[in-house]
Amino acid sequence: MRPLGVHTSIKDSLINSINEAIALKCTTFQIFLHSPRIWQIPEFSVEVINEFKRLRQLYSLNPLIVHASYLINLISSNPKTIASSRYLLKREVLMADALEADYYVIHLKDNNDMGKDEIFAKTFEGFSKIGKLEKCKILIENTAKSKITALIPDLIETFKNIENENLGGICIDTCHLFAAGYDISTEEGISKFIEEISQYDAFDLIKLIHLNDSKAPAGSGIDRHEHIGKGHIGIKGFESFLRIEKLSNLPLILETPKKTPEDDLKNLATVRKILRKLES
Ligand SMILES: [Zn+2]
Ligand SMILES: [Zn+2]
Repeated sequence: MRPLGVHTSIKDSLINSINEAIALKCTTFQIFLHSPRIWQIPEFSVEVINEFKRLRQLYSLNPLIVHASYLINLISSNPKTIASSRYLLKREVLMADALEADYYVIHLKDNNDMGKDEIFAKTFEGFSKIGKLEKCKILIENTAKSKITALIPDLIETFKNIENENLGGICIDTCHLFAAGYDISTEEGISKFIEEISQYDAFDLIKLIHLNDSKAPAGSGIDRHEHIGKGHIGIKGFESFLRIEKLSNLPLILETPKKTPEDDLKNLATVRKILRKLES
């Protein structure tokens, strides 16, 4: 079975995130390095980093994914925000690299007052401050609504324009894909997605899947995650999506709602059931 995991919490400590992944019998997991809606970022001690690495190796949790915080905006119209964003981006990717994360996933911001060329140039510049990372690769995630990352042709154009040695590919979030207008609850929507990726010969660029159902309807442009099978994509939609041959070895990370600890268990069980059905 392909790597399957969830976004786990670092709320008490970094080690908490890995213990959660182990308890849920995940084979991969994703974390934030700090609260994603604040600028402050703590340093982890060498002891904590080493313990984290030891547990990860012991339980073979691969890949490890770090999700960027939401504040990073490399193309803000406010120069102060750009400066803070460049600083935070660099701190986060260096910390992800120190933790030996495989991927650092980021949603790029859009700016209605800027054309694509200016957005690409500013983003390129922001990334160029990072320096060469040892191991961690940066992935650009598709979003529900944006002129640069919502539609597949735009996402690929953006990826190609932000040439940076640390860029490793793209992450496809099923909820965002659906909200952007690819109705993957139907065969037509699945075909549209496959055709566009094939047209750009971009299957190899996809390194990670965020598996989320959608509370909002197809094409709504609204990013609201739902439990697997309980939203507009539905079990049938996920079965069709997970049947796509060229994506069949990619790691799957759930970012579904968590009100109780049972929520992750239920969503993981639903996905495992679909995967077993597809493999039989
Ligand atoms: Zn996502
Ligand atoms: Zn989302």
